[in-house]
Amino acid sequence: MAKYTPMIEQYLSVKEQAQDAFLFFRLGDFYEMFFEDAVLASKELEITLTGREGGGAERIPMCGVPYHSAEGYIQRLIEKGYKVAICEQMEDASATKGMVRREIVRVVTPGTIMDGKVVSDKSNNYMVCITTYGGLMALAACDLSTGELYVTSVPSSEEWLRDEIGIYEPSEIIGDNNLLEIVSSQALSTSRPVLATPWDRRDDNLVRSQFGEAVWARLDEERRACVSLLIAYLSETQKRSLGQLTQVSSYEPGQYMVLDPFTRRNLELVETVRERSKKGSLLWLLDRTETSMGARLMRRRIDKPLLQRSRIEERLEAVDYLYNQYILREDLRMALKEIYDLERLVGRIAFGSANGRDLNALKLSLRQIPTLKSLCAESGSLTLQKLAEATDVCADLCEFIEESIVDEPPVSVRDGGIIKTGYHERLDELKEASTNGKRWIAELEARERNATGIKSLKIGFNKVFGYYIEVTKSNISSLPEGRYERKQTLTNAERYVTPELKEKEGLILEAQEKMVDLEYALFTELRDKLNTQIARLQGLAEKIAEIDVYQSLAVVSAEHRFVKPELIEGYDLTVEGGRHPVVEAVMKDTSFIANGTELKKDGSSILLITGPNMAGKSTYMRQVALVSIMAQIGCFVPADVAVLPLVDRIFTRIGAADDLIGGQSTFMVEMADIQVMTEKATPRSLIIIDELGRGTSTSEGMAIAQAVIEYVHDHIGCKALVSTHFHELAHLQESLSGLRNYSMAVQESGDKVHFLRKLIPGAADSSYGIYCARLAGLPGSIIDRAYGLLQGLEQASSAAVTGDGSLSSASLTACTAAESLSKEHAADYETDKVQNLISPSQNSEELDTS
Ligand code: ADP
Repeated sequence: MAKYTPMIEQYLSVKEQAQDAFLFFRLGDFYEMFFEDAVLASKELEITLTGREGGGAERIPMCGVPYHSAEGYIQRLIEKGYKVAICEQMEDASATKGMVRREIVRVVTPGTIMDGKVVSDKSNNYMVCITTYGGLMALAACDLSTGELYVTSVPSSEEWLRDEIGIYEPSEIIGDNNLLEIVSSQALSTSRPVLATPWDRRDDNLVRSQFGEAVWARLDEERRACVSLLIAYLSETQKRSLGQLTQVSSYEPGQYMVLDPFTRRNLELVETVRERSKKGSLLWLLDRTETSMGARLMRRRIDKPLLQRSRIEERLEAVDYLYNQYILREDLRMALKEIYDLERLVGRIAFGSANGRDLNALKLSLRQIPTLKSLCAESGSLTLQKLAEATDVCADLCEFIEESIVDEPPVSVRDGGIIKTGYHERLDELKEASTNGKRWIAELEARERNATGIKSLKIGFNKVFGYYIEVTKSNISSLPEGRYERKQTLTNAERYVTPELKEKEGLILEAQEKMVDLEYALFTELRDKLNTQIARLQGLAEKIAEIDVYQSLAVVSAEHRFVKPELIEGYDLTVEGGRHPVVEAVMKDTSFIANGTELKKDGSSILLITGPNMAGKSTYMRQVALVSIMAQIGCFVPADVAVLPLVDRIFTRIGAADDLIGGQSTFMVEMADIQVMTEKATPRSLIIIDELGRGTSTSEGMAIAQAVIEYVHDHIGCKALVSTHFHELAHLQESLSGLRNYSMAVQESGDKVHFLRKLIPGAADSSYGIYCARLAGLPGSIIDRAYGLLQGLEQASSAAVTGDGSLSSASLTACTAAESLSKEHAADYETDKVQNLISPSQNSEELDTS
C-alpha cells in the first residue's frame, strides 16, 4: 500500500464520507479535486487536469477551481445530475500547527440546490422520496428552496407511482432501492437527468422536533416512514437546520383528477410534445401571473385538477368576480408586480444565505400587502374576502426591516454599509468616530501643507502601509527634520508617517473594523429574528400565490372569451361552441371553428369520429379533455355553454411519431396503455383514443379497435371519444346503443378537398387516404389499383359484419391483401407531408391537385 502525505491521507478519509459525490476539498483559495474525481471533473467542467506528488509512487491527478467562483462550477455539475460535497477548512490555517481540520459542511445535490439554473423562478425543484410500508407505497416531495413538503400514500401500485412522480418531475429521487429500479426502468418522462440514491436511514426524532408532535401523530405509519427518510437525507446532506420546512401537507391522491404522464404530455398541459417548451402549452396560455409564487402555484393547479365540486366552485367564484371587474384586476396586478419571490427569500433566510438586498426585497414586497388585502376584502368575492381575512400583513416585519436596513444595501454582508444610522447606538458612535477620523485626516493634510509650504503634499491610504504623507522627490528638501519617518519610496515620491498620524490611524482602523464586525453581528441578529417568523411569511406567500392565480385565470378567461362552467354531479356532459384554447390562441389569420359536444348516459357516451387526416379530429378530442381539466382547476372554459360532470381520470392514447421510448414499439405502448385503462377507468372517467389500432396490420388493428370500443361500452361505461381511420367501424353504431358516429366535415369540389373543421353526425364515407396518395404523386396505375382494391375490401367487410359483428375470414384476407398499400398510406398520412403538398399560394385549408 502506498503511503501518502498527511494531506492526501486527510483527503482520503474525508472522501470516504462522500463516495457518491465530487469532493471539493478546500486548500487555501482553491477547492481541489483528486484521483478519479479530478479526472472526471476536468472533463465535465473542461478545466485542466494536473498532477501532484502525494507520497505514493505516482503523481496524483488533480484539478481545482477558485473558491470565489466555485458556485458556477458546482451548479454545472449539479445540472449534469451529480452531487458535490463541499469540504472546508474548519480552523484558521495561520493559527494552527500541523494539519488544518477539514470537514464536509454540505453536500449539494440536484434536489437540494438553492440557486442557479436548476432552480428556475417559475417552477419548483422537487426532491422525491419513495418507500413501501406494510403493503402501501408512500411518496414525499420536497422543494427545499420554497419550503414545501407534501406526502401521500396508496396501496402498492406501480402505475400510481409513475403518475405521481410524473407530476413532480423531480430532479432527484431517493428511497427504497427496488422502487428506484422500477421507476428508472419505466423511463421517467423528464427532460433533465434525475439523480437516484438508495436511502434507508430514518430520523423520526428530527421529524417530530421539526414539525411538532401533533403533525407526527396525524401522519399514518407509511407517511411517517417516508417523511422521516426524506428529512434524514436532507439533514445528512445539508448539515444545518431546515427552518424553511414548517409544515407537512399530507394529501389523499383521490382528491385529484388522475392524469398519467402520457396524458399530461399528449394534452400538452405544461410543455409541448415536440419542443418540450412551455410555449404552446396550456400552462403557457393560462399563466399570466405576476409573481414567481403565483407561477409555481399555477403549475401545481394544472398538475392537480380537483374532484370536489365545492372547492372548484369556490375558485370559480373568485375568478368570476375578477372576470367582471377590469379595474380591480389591474389594481391587483399592479400590486403583485412589486412582490418578490417570498418563498425563495424565506428559504434563503432559513438557510442563512440571505443578504441585505434580500431583506430589502422582503420589505418592498411586504409594503404591497395592505393594498392587496384591501382590494380582496372589497372585491365582492367571498373567496377573496376569506383570503383577505386570513392574510397576516406582517407589518411588524416590514417596519423592522425598514428601521434597520439601508435602502440600497451592498451584496456582501461582511463589509458593512447595511445597517441604517439611528438603529444601534454603539454602531452610530463607531461610524461617527470613523467619519470624524477621516475629517481629521483631511484637516491634517491642510495643516501639513501650510506648515511645510509644499502645495502638492497629500495624504493617502493603502492596505499595506495604512495612512501616509506623500511628498514628491523635488520637495523633499522642504520637509523639516525629525518628525517624518520614511515608510515607502516610489520613483517620484517618498511616503512618510508621523507619530500623530500613526496614532489616529490606529483609532480610525479600529473603529472601522469594529464597525464592520458590529454591522455583521447586527445583520445576522436581524436575519435570525426573521428566521423565527418564517411560518408567518410562508403563510403570506401562499395567500399571495393564490390571489395571483385567480387574477391570472380571470385575465385569460376575459381576454379569450371563456365562460364559467356549470359543474354537476350527474353523468351527462354538454358543451356548446367548444374550442381548443391553445390552438385558437395561436391561430393568426383564420378563425377557430367551434364545435359542441354531447356525451350522455343514454345513447351517446362514446363518439366514434371519422374523417380524413388534417380534418381536426384530434384537436377536437383534446379540446374536450382540456375543457374538463380547465374547469376542474377552477378556470373558465373556451365554450359558449359548458355543463360538466366531474371527471375522475382522463386517459389519452394519441398515436404520435415519437412514441418509441425504451425500445418499445408504438403498438406495444398503445396496448400497455389500453391495459391500464381497462383496469383503472371508472364510469366517471374520460377516454380519448386517437387513431386506435394503427400500429399493427389493418385487419388486426380494426379487430382490436372494435374489441376495445366494445369493452369500454359494455364494461366501463365511461365517456369516450375515439377517432379512427377505419371508417368501416361505423357499423358499431348499430350494435352499441351508447355509440354515435360523427365525422369532420369536408367539402369536395372538383379536385379540391376543403376542411370545414365542423363536427357532423354520421360517419365519413371515405378516408381520403388514396386521395392523399395521389396528391403525393404516386403513379396513376397504383392509384387505380388501390381504388379497385378498396372497393373489394369495403364490400367484403360490409358482408362480414352482418350477423355477429365480427370480421369474416374473407374480409381478413382482403384486408391483408391491402395491407402493404395501407402502409404506404400511413406515410402519406403524416401531417407534415400533406402540408408539403400544398403550394404556398394556396389556402392552407385546401388540397389541390390541379
Ligand atoms: P386530424 O387529427 O384530423 O388529423 P388535427 O386535429 O391534427 O387533424 O388538425 C389539423 C389542423 O387543423 C390543426 O393543426 C389546426 O391548425 C387545424 N384545426 C383543427 N381543428 C380546427 C378548428 N376547429 N378550427 C380551425 N382550425 C382547426
